[in-house]
Amino acid sequence: MHSEELRKIDNEHVWHPFTQMKTHRDENVPMIESGEGFFLKDNEGRAYLDGVSSLWCNVHGHRVPEIDQAIREQLDKIAHTTLLGLASVPSIELASELVKRTPEKLTKVFYSDSGSTAVEIALKMAFQYHAQKQTPDDQPRDLFACMQHAYHGDTIGSVSVGGISIFHEIFGSLLFESIQVPCPTAFHCPEGYSESSYLEYCDQELERLVTANHQRLAAFIIEPLVQGAAGMLMHPPGYLRRVRELTARYGIPLIADEVAVGLGRTGTMFACEQEDVAPDFLCLAKGITGGYLPLAVTMATDEIFNAFEGAPEDYKTFFHGHTYTGNSLACAAALATLKLFDTQQTLENVKENTEILSHRLAELQDHPHVGEIRQKGVMVGIELVSDRETKAAFPMGRRVGHQVTLAARKNGVIVRPLGDVVVLMPAPGMPAELIHQLCDVVFSAIDEVISLQVA
Ligand SMILES: *Cc1c(COP(=O)(O)O)cnc(C)c1O
Repeated sequence: MHSEELRKIDNEHVWHPFTQMKTHRDENVPMIESGEGFFLKDNEGRAYLDGVSSLWCNVHGHRVPEIDQAIREQLDKIAHTTLLGLASVPSIELASELVKRTPEKLTKVFYSDSGSTAVEIALKMAFQYHAQKQTPDDQPRDLFACMQHAYHGDTIGSVSVGGISIFHEIFGSLLFESIQVPCPTAFHCPEGYSESSYLEYCDQELERLVTANHQRLAAFIIEPLVQGAAGMLMHPPGYLRRVRELTARYGIPLIADEVAVGLGRTGTMFACEQEDVAPDFLCLAKGITGGYLPLAVTMATDEIFNAFEGAPEDYKTFFHGHTYTGNSLACAAALATLKLFDTQQTLENVKENTEILSHRLAELQDHPHVGEIRQKGVMVGIELVSDRETKAAFPMGRRVGHQVTLAARKNGVIVRPLGDVVVLMPAPGMPAELIHQLCDVVFSAIDEVISLQVA
């Protein structure tokens, strides 16, 4: 099909996610047709550096020979069979690899197909776990603790533990109850606090909220180290550890949502490792297939799992599953993705790129319209502000973050902001010279857009 025809059909029939279609229609976004390595190519032959890992999921690049080959080989056997009443070889092999690589005690792997479902499953498992362990006299455990500004996906359950008001507010009346723990990041702390007094307040609130509600809490869910969708908000060192200690004290299961931070992005394979934390549930998705196919896992401990064992007539079964649970092609892609972490020493590459990014980001340190630069591993948020002193934002309608995206695109780099936070999310396997290219183009895009804003 020709470009014009494709464009017309896109505008008439494709409803894009997280997208105001009224403005989308005027924007003539690139229509991607192919890709290679860390570049995407549109249907008119223009190449773009993929600066946000295809929305945070690509790991080793596009058209990686080893992953392509693994999928082809699996395709020659079978594409998909069910895990309801049958087992499948790739899902078994992948479970074994995951149990080996993830924090201790996570021995059970429940498959699904997106980050949202991975979280939904953890929430339901936690709820049912308590229901089956409790005596009739116990208070029901029907309350979840989550972080302010959290993002755990878009199903109603995962939205119930979310805290991004522009996404979630409209669904308020449909959601189940949760309590929000203040997000321990000082940049936007309320008036009357200094950075350190605010972090202290957050610590006290964490303890107070967990203690006061511990008899009702079914689980505590957290994005370890970095709250991605909130704008790359980073917790202070020791925070995750503290959440683990508190939840362990009261027997509250901890759900680590590593959908964004897992698979090497923060510098370790899993973010929990950095604080020596063993969660009760671990949710993985996005990068698990290298960004190739939709697959997610919810991992759980024996302690959780054992509460579901019984005779069929005990009805302790976890009655949840999706048609494509444990899809064979996706499992094959995931196995190849994990293997590449060993053979390509991807974590070493992340370490090197982390340093390059730190050096390069220092160039923006004194920029009059950069309010804060946040980085953990190869996850970066550059928050643009109209006034560095007051931290005042640009007017929302100017869409400054979005303007930076458009300016970068003109120069062959794809990024996608979160509001006025410019996000850099290079794939863990990206070579160093492309990290430099990403910084060169995005930094000048920032300057170009800012000079127009303040002129
Ligand atoms: C993206 C994301 C999700 C949702 O994953 P989907 O596959 O988009 O449903 C959940 N949690 C976190 C932390 C995420 O970044």
